[in-house]
Amino acid sequence: EEEKKAEEDKTLVMATNAEFPPYEYYEGEEVVGIDVDIAKAVAEELGMELKIEDMAFDSVIPAVSSGKADIALAGLTVTDERKENLNFTDTYAKATQVIIVKEDSAIAGPDDLEGKKIGVQLGTTGDLYASDIKDAEVEQYNKGFEAVQATMQGKIDAVIIDSEPAKEFVAEAEGLKILDEAFTEEEYAIGIAKDNDELLEKVNKALKTLKESGKLDEIVAEYIKA
Ligand code: GLN
Repeated sequence: EEEKKAEEDKTLVMATNAEFPPYEYYEGEEVVGIDVDIAKAVAEELGMELKIEDMAFDSVIPAVSSGKADIALAGLTVTDERKENLNFTDTYAKATQVIIVKEDSAIAGPDDLEGKKIGVQLGTTGDLYASDIKDAEVEQYNKGFEAVQATMQGKIDAVIIDSEPAKEFVAEAEGLKILDEAFTEEEYAIGIAKDNDELLEKVNKALKTLKESGKLDEIVAEYIKA
């Protein structure tokens, strides 16, 4: 029992949704990406072993707040609402929510989404924005790429999704484009359980080290070509 506890103390469990390139996605059987490399570097700073738990995006926050996982690292946007359920570390990336449409679509910006069929990934900030759009019909998908495919097939009019995965998905798809006019700016941070101040402090310290040493920029540059 004690041995098991000691083992747990040395393992940093990361909850994520590996459908979000370039932050987390599968390369063969392996989950890779910016968030994965950040988590590995943080675990190393902490002298811990990283274990990745891949799950649906809307399970990531509950996994951490319930203590099943230690950190939520999933391109997770900091929002006031989420702060009620978990603590966030310092931010490590900026992002925007963008709109994906067919190349020949008449939709040119957020204002044109009124009354439209909009696809989102369930439980994301894109999902939140979409549900605020007047008369819009929101289709919630488990995977962002499913929403992108539905747009390609003409089943829906647009997708609201984070900028970096949007670029990757549009490159993989055909006949789609990302609109220049984006929704709000967002920031990504690592989520940690409310009662785990000790870990919050340690992870923040590790993040600071990674920022100051240039390691964080190095990780990002490996996945996002400027
Ligand atoms: N940044 C978005 C959010 O936090 C989407 C994250 C994701 O799909 N992994 O809701």
